[in-house]
Amino acid sequence: MSGRILVVDDVATNRVILKAKLATAYFDVIQAANGQEALDLARSAHPDIILLDIIMPDMDGYQVCKTLKSNPETAHIPVVMVTAMGAPDERIRGLNAGADDFLTKPINDVALFARVRNLVRVKIMFDELRLRDSTTRELGLSEFVDAWSHESDLAGSVLLTASSADEAACWGHCLKEKLDLQVFETGSEREAFALATLESPDAYIVHQHLQKGGDGLRLVSALRARHETRQSAIIFVVGDGLMETAERALDLGASDYIMPPYDKNELTARLRSQLRRKHYSDRLRSNVRDGLRMAVTDPLTGLFNRRYCTQHMGRIVDRAQASGGPFTVMMLDLDRFKQVNDSHGHEAGDAVLVEFARRLQENVRGVDLVARLGGEEFLVAMPDADNAAAQAVAERIRAAVETRPFKLDNGAQLAITVSIGVAVAGIGETDAQAVIGRADLALYKSKAAGRNVVSFYASAA
Ligand code: GH3
Ligand code: MG
Ligand code: MG
Repeated sequence: MSGRILVVDDVATNRVILKAKLATAYFDVIQAANGQEALDLARSAHPDIILLDIIMPDMDGYQVCKTLKSNPETAHIPVVMVTAMGAPDERIRGLNAGADDFLTKPINDVALFARVRNLVRVKIMFDELRLRDSTTRELGLSEFVDAWSHESDLAGSVLLTASSADEAACWGHCLKEKLDLQVFETGSEREAFALATLESPDAYIVHQHLQKGGDGLRLVSALRARHETRQSAIIFVVGDGLMETAERALDLGASDYIMPPYDKNELTARLRSQLRRKHYSDRLRSNVRDGLRMAVTDPLTGLFNRRYCTQHMGRIVDRAQASGGPFTVMMLDLDRFKQVNDSHGHEAGDAVLVEFARRLQENVRGVDLVARLGGEEFLVAMPDADNAAAQAVAERIRAAVETRPFKLDNGAQLAITVSIGVAVAGIGETDAQAVIGRADLALYKSKAAGRNVVSFYASAA
């Protein structure tokens, strides 16, 4: 895994030193000598990480970082500030400007590489999510997700582990005071894991030394291995103060770490930036998921659409072949539906379609596929249903429509009926479209017979 790193420093020697170090690990290094150049390159050269000097003429590192984080094009690029001082208040100022971490000059190689590897991994994950999100957006299936932003980003829940109950209580108090958080505290590795399953917090603060010989590194690794906690933020508290331990934690999947002497404000600032990242990735993920759901459902009724139906029919045929069982396809078409629109308006027609979809779903099993193919034409596919079962279900649906009038918002009650055509696929049927075609022929028969009727395709009847 390598990546492109943008090194920003007004002193040429500093840039050259960093470039030489990073080149040994095959990173592709690009350079900027001032803030404006950094902003331009961040947009045009797509770096995976930005190493940003704080003290520069014109625009200082804080300003550059804030500008990067406020632009949707660059907000997701991790920023590591390189500081000569490393004083806690400098770090907090940087974290609040949106920086992801700090390195102190002269730069420790272990710290540099551990951090860079970790951030490149995070960046690759974000790139993938952003790519999928942009695809669903281009397809018109989702809205733009703003990177970091809202104050609500700072809400959430955190599981806090510490080496002693006192420490946990003290940190917990501080976090609750500064962020809108629900905090779960524990000092035991086993309880932490149990709580993770129960509460799925957004973030974890994991101490290296847990009570009763518990091992924080082992907990980090266990959390990352579980599907439910894979996306959570983890801040590792390095108990022994060794950079090597921090490096191991990052490589095991921790998102960030803090070193002794612990500064509660720094912990809060780091947690805040992790929560922001977590909420952003959650939003991207759910945007993609909702977009995909939209791609396969009909917005009016919430039923599956034709695209999904075509795909899923293939599955039903495969499964029937594998099990040697039958399956049934039912085509349904509302009778004289055009008259509903003509006499009561299009909106009334829509309401009837929604109510029809509801009754349809009420009268089939969960495993049955219910789809709106278009207009007032619907399909139900029933795996494993034979002639007798199909007959019973079709008749039940027909009756469920006819016997109860459809109520409109204005109080009007409409008598609606539906015509149904059924085709039962025999053993060894391989062509879903052919079965649908037969159900369609049966539907024509129902219409010709005067509507509000169930007909079977001849050879199966
Ligand atoms: P038949 O009994 O032969 O099926 O007669 P029909 O009137 O139901 O059939 P036809 O195909 O002539 O008319 C279907 C009507 O369904 C025409 C169209 O305006 C209406 N329609 C199709 N999609 C929608 C929709 O999404 N909402 C509403 N309100 N009407 C729709
Ligand atoms: Mg019709
Ligand atoms: Mg029609």
